[in-house]
Amino acid sequence: MLPTQKLYEGKAKILYLTEDADILLTVYKDDATAFNAQKRGQIKGKGEINCAIARSLFELLEKAGIPTHYIDCPASDRMRVKAVKIIPLEVVVRNVAAGSLCRQTGLSEGKVLPFPLVEYYLKNDELGDPLLTRPRIELLKIISEAELAAIEQMALNINRHLQEFFVKCDITLVDFKLEFGKDSQQKIILADEISPDTCRLWDIAESDPQARVLDKDRFRRDLGGVESAYQQVLERILAKVSSAL
Ligand code: UDP
Repeated sequence: MLPTQKLYEGKAKILYLTEDADILLTVYKDDATAFNAQKRGQIKGKGEINCAIARSLFELLEKAGIPTHYIDCPASDRMRVKAVKIIPLEVVVRNVAAGSLCRQTGLSEGKVLPFPLVEYYLKNDELGDPLLTRPRIELLKIISEAELAAIEQMALNINRHLQEFFVKCDITLVDFKLEFGKDSQQKIILADEISPDTCRLWDIAESDPQARVLDKDRFRRDLGGVESAYQQVLERILAKVSSAL
């Protein structure tokens, strides 16, 4: 039975209110979208797989001292999370050039970056999530300079822990998107999800540029084998996560 009070339905998840105002229930969906929802489809089993992946990664980060919204999973496609006010920034961290970084700068796909690149995009579908600059963040009064500095440090810290863990899974963490929120005490914590929908993950053992893709690019680029790639990521994470926790 689903709770009835739907708060918000996003592209990959539905948020429900619970009896406790500080807790929300997230239901992970099989729906997949790409290119600002111009391409739509379903990835069978994705809801459960992404929920399990996000759960493992949130647990890993919590253990490393990074505050997240994760509470627990009452069912395989459901996660209870702390209620936060989402900061309208998509925080992208990149270790290897791919996607829009290549399109916008001419860097070749697969180039290992000399330092992790942290970028901010405005979370606004109507505007197509544009890349922001620090002055624009200030201009739009999205967050203070000190809060932005704290988010940058958290993003780099998260990257360090995730990169280290994914290497153990024989996966290269190419890039990923994070969202942060403020809890009732105005504390900034990691929110949303971390999954193959929001990360680029390449099989370390595979050099073929299509075969190595284990993430949503398989769906975006019609490469096939989407479900099995997501399943593969989950299996590798589960094989390593208990020893890391
Ligand atoms: N990403 C995301 N949601 C978005 C945009 C990007 O989860 O709305 C993730 C994407 O999966 C990738 C990273 O952020 O892991 C960087 O994406 P990029 O800017 O290269 O955009 P794309 O090439 O996907 O348009």
